[in-house]
Amino acid sequence: MVKETKFYDILGVKPTASESELKKAYRKLALKYHPDKNPEDPEKFKMISMAYEVLSDEKKRKLYDEAGEQGIKEGSTGGGGFSSPMDIFDMFFGGGSRRHQRERRGKDVVHQLSVSLEDMYNGAVRKLALQKNVICDKCEGRGGKKGAIEKCPNCRGSGMQVRVQHIGPGMVQQIQSMCHECHGQGERINPKDRCRNCQGRKIVRERKILEVHIDKGMRDGQKVTFQGEGDQEPGLEPGDIVIVLDEKEHPVFQRSGDDLIMKMEIELVEALCGFERHIKTLDSRQLLITSHPGEIIKYGEIRCVLNEGMPIYRSPYDKGRLIIQFSVNFPEDNFLPADKLQQLEKLLPERKETIITDDTEICDLVRLDPHQANQNHRGNVYDDDDGEGHGPRVQCATH
Ligand SMILES: [Zn+2]
Ligand SMILES: [Zn+2]
Repeated sequence: MVKETKFYDILGVKPTASESELKKAYRKLALKYHPDKNPEDPEKFKMISMAYEVLSDEKKRKLYDEAGEQGIKEGSTGGGGFSSPMDIFDMFFGGGSRRHQRERRGKDVVHQLSVSLEDMYNGAVRKLALQKNVICDKCEGRGGKKGAIEKCPNCRGSGMQVRVQHIGPGMVQQIQSMCHECHGQGERINPKDRCRNCQGRKIVRERKILEVHIDKGMRDGQKVTFQGEGDQEPGLEPGDIVIVLDEKEHPVFQRSGDDLIMKMEIELVEALCGFERHIKTLDSRQLLITSHPGEIIKYGEIRCVLNEGMPIYRSPYDKGRLIIQFSVNFPEDNFLPADKLQQLEKLLPERKETIITDDTEICDLVRLDPHQANQNHRGNVYDDDDGEGHGPRVQCATH
């Protein structure tokens, strides 16, 4: 039981979420609410970062689960508080390490690309259309004719303007701000010499098609980087476009690293006497799986097929395992008349004998209603969510 769920709610996950579920949730939301894409709601981006910062740290998550947000605030020794949302973002998407040497480099732009499990299995090329800023080729990024550029008279080329404000008798305050004449550029172009193609902005918007190669075995969250394809700006080395793959859920297979996991229902007769099943693979082959004669498949049992999982990235001829989780469909009540039941019993392994003595209490076994209050039970014997299946221990078991 967690004290409060606010941080989990912000990320849209359950308090039982695994590390990878948290990562995926953060990735999706951080990209969606990044100030570049969603400047209207900076608080949301901050909240997402805060929640992820706490929940991605094992110690902080434990503290949060026990004592809630208040506990985190009190527990942060040294007044460290929270990191900047941008630092968390850069750390997560890997932009942080190069940051010290990128003063003259434009921003990286991160996009998410939704990819089916089939595409990650077979490999694919996806075309992605993007808008980006490129340096105007008509004026070569000058914004106007050669020689038409002059120092901004307002700021004398500094790009900053200083305003003096009187804040009291004999006291003045200097306020420095960006020059609004030249928008901090320090230069201006006579309107009649302005480049018509870019209206003096030096850059133009251009549609660009990127081909994203999805290699066999690539994973959810994996990045494909297009170096230097970010927005161009005069005097800056362009940043990268980073495409983050987002694996779509598949109706049959669930991926776990290089393994694929699927559920399979079989009938009781198949569990006892053998079965055959077709499985359609992610590259549309038909596999036939067969149990060996005499082999019993129990409810909940797990079997696997080697080399039928996901291809291994950069070694696609090797594959993980296909893991099958079995469930067994039992027949309904009274599926056999009493005399046939006796015949069946003769074929099945013998039952254990029950000894009834004088102080044995005989009691009724009824079906469990998970919504019914469990007044008669001390403590929490079973989970409210999935009482069925696991079931409570019957208190008055025979000996
Ligand atoms: Zn131009
Ligand atoms: Zn100026």
